Amino acid sequence: MSGHLTTVAGVAVDTRHWIGGQRVASAAAFTDHSPIDGSVLGEIARGTAAEADAAVAAATAAFPAWAATPRAERARLLHAIADGVERRLEDLAAVETADNGALLRSHRRGVMPRVAHNFRFFADWLLTLDHEDFDTRGHTNHVSRDPAGPCVLITPWNAPLMLATWKIAPALAAGNTVVLKPAEWTPLTASLLADIAAEAGLPAGVLNVVQGLGSEIGDALTSHPDVRRISFTGSVPTAKHIAASAAPQLTPLSLELGGKSPLLVFADADLDLAATLAVEQYDNAGQVCLAATRLLVEESVAEEFTRRFVEKAAQLTQGDPREEATDLGPNIHPRQLEKIDGFVRRAIAAGARAVVGGTRLEGQYYAPTLLTDVAQDSEIVQEEVFGPVLTLQTFRDEAGAVQLANDTRFGLAATLATGSRERAERVTGQLVAGTVWVNCFFVRDLRAPFGGSRHSGVGREGGTWSFDFYCDVKNTVSAPKGWNGHG
Ligand code: NDP
Repeated sequence: MSGHLTTVAGVAVDTRHWIGGQRVASAAAFTDHSPIDGSVLGEIARGTAAEADAAVAAATAAFPAWAATPRAERARLLHAIADGVERRLEDLAAVETADNGALLRSHRRGVMPRVAHNFRFFADWLLTLDHEDFDTRGHTNHVSRDPAGPCVLITPWNAPLMLATWKIAPALAAGNTVVLKPAEWTPLTASLLADIAAEAGLPAGVLNVVQGLGSEIGDALTSHPDVRRISFTGSVPTAKHIAASAAPQLTPLSLELGGKSPLLVFADADLDLAATLAVEQYDNAGQVCLAATRLLVEESVAEEFTRRFVEKAAQLTQGDPREEATDLGPNIHPRQLEKIDGFVRRAIAAGARAVVGGTRLEGQYYAPTLLTDVAQDSEIVQEEVFGPVLTLQTFRDEAGAVQLANDTRFGLAATLATGSRERAERVTGQLVAGTVWVNCFFVRDLRAPFGGSRHSGVGREGGTWSFDFYCDVKNTVSAPKGWNGHG
């Protein structure tokens, strides 16, 4: 570490904000640690309202020129950013793994290619986005999408650059400018992205990155009168706080929040596939919003399903996320580990049985855990743990399965394992969920909508839904007889 640069996994990362095309320091700093071994990764600029205001001012100043930039040129620049991401893929993967502890092999082969794809996808989608025309008694209704203005984007630590670019790419493609605030526990790859965007030729002020701690910088961003959109991914309590902060300005919000999603295993399912899907829910050490953390299994196959699950879970390798053979890395932070363990301890005290795991391990690791004998109204069934902890409950019939599946305050996703297409259609129609997977998990086309119902979110992003959110949609009605209304 020296001055404003830190070196992480051999990669130099600037620890200051990126505002108006300049690196900007703060008087104070916060320390960023690696979940792999607790080592210090850097002293990061600790922004306040002053830096938030400066970033919104830079985004506001840059907006008119960027909004007026032809679509083809905006698309070209987004592809240039994607090129930069691909060129620095190894750096981004290594830094992200050091910072959030997720698997290096996933970052290399899945996550960082997806980061580049986020830019390419929205660049291409922008060019094919049609403006609809409708005819009413000879009047033409021409529907267009105008850039909305400066957008504040706030992202969590579990998939930092993937989730940030999932918002940045459509916001920029739509002609908006951006202020990104990454999570305090994972500030590093956002800083590298700022370098990449500058190298790609993105004009100053179009993308700004501010670092800082929660409300300390966040409130000034979310209550700012010049901000035209806020897109947030994170927890329900923070979402409520942000919604209250944005309310006086009536700033439109997109909220992608937590979940407590079910995996329904019917007796007619391929049980081996079902057990494989269930074990996949430990991915990213359970720190996945979409994870199906409630296994709901038809009574008649519960014993056999559990046997296969236990067998597969025993094959997981837990350890250093930089090793190729590792399946489960560390959890993000000692505080998160305390939280996970608290959930498990209270569940066990209330009568739950740990069929798999149930304990904290050395360092920042938690054993993949499966709890049975849990009550539907218990905390462990109702609340998001955000760690490698699953529960298993049984049901007698389809109606019982649907009843359990829908009985939380969330509605992000659901997964079905069944051998019957008719059952899949019937059950899907009754589930409250933004995404339903049938005999598969996690695969998703970026043209499709993504989001949650109830406390899992407000609004949808993806494909045209992203453009609808990041644009002011306008209807222009023209008289039938010519441009001035006269024959
Ligand atoms: P948090 O809500 O704690 O934080 C998310 C982001 O909000 C962080 O950048 C955080 O900053 C920031 N923040 C906190 N307080 C404020 C504030 N007052 N104003 C503005 N910003 C603020 O969530 P976590 O980081 O713990 O993320 C985990 C949550 O995210 C889980 O509930 C998970 O389900 C959800 N999630 C949802 C996804 C979805 O698409 N539906 C995808 C991934 C995760 P700081 O870090 O500095 O506190």
